[in-house]
Amino acid sequence: MPSFVTHLSCPRCDLTYDAQQVHNLCACGAPLLVEYDLDRIGRQASKALVAARPPTMWRYQEFLPVSDPQQIVSLGEGFTPLLPLGNLGQRWNLPHLWLKEDGLNPTGSFKARGASCGVSRARELGVTEVALPTAGNAGGAWACYGAAAGLRVHVAMPKDAPLINQLECRMFGAELTLVDGLISDAGRLIAQQVQQYGWFDASTLKEPYRIEGKKTLGLEVAEQMGWQMPDAIIYPAGGGVGIIGIWRALQQLRQIGWVSGDLPRLIVVQAEG
Ligand SMILES: [Zn+2]
Repeated sequence: MPSFVTHLSCPRCDLTYDAQQVHNLCACGAPLLVEYDLDRIGRQASKALVAARPPTMWRYQEFLPVSDPQQIVSLGEGFTPLLPLGNLGQRWNLPHLWLKEDGLNPTGSFKARGASCGVSRARELGVTEVALPTAGNAGGAWACYGAAAGLRVHVAMPKDAPLINQLECRMFGAELTLVDGLISDAGRLIAQQVQQYGWFDASTLKEPYRIEGKKTLGLEVAEQMGWQMPDAIIYPAGGGVGIIGIWRALQQLRQIGWVSGDLPRLIVVQAEG
């Protein structure tokens, strides 16, 4: 399985970085993106090749950053169903409304995508301890995939985060710190600890590979709709990594000619409070 990654790039200042080394943010403070040789992917991969592979997000391996298949930590994540919402669509006068049911992923959320990719790539690059703040779901996912990978995982979350996520972290053997405050307070604690102990900072948008896992959401929607783009995608956002990933996926698919026409409108919704 050859890697098609060429380098990491900064979308703000255009600096580039060697993808074979561990990086967090750009020197300018912006998140780094993974760049691929899309011409080579276009020549060596095909829709038929993808369709013949097992139904996990790793069926899009050419679009993902792990080069050694032995390093892939997969628990069956991805390729979740696209369900027609007939009744709801009728009520809103949207006859072709679909739901991507990502709650069927391991640990119950789409965070499994980012964790599978992020943990796999961190291990491939020689990282042994990762740390992240979380409102809940991501902590459970990274604890789970970290356990499967043999990595030490340190998680900080607000003390009123869902009990299920606290239990997940503990059951999967992560070190869990409950913080009296918000996720931003948990983030400050992790930032200090990363400095102090030399752990790898796996916070949202502070390492390049979570987005790559979330990108598979966009790849799957395209494949499951017969490589026809929908008019619009409505996305419930927390940190926003998923919607960036979907956008990257659709751009890459268009660039290699697997989809054509306009890209869908992206509509982001976020919970109040
Ligand atoms: Zn930069």
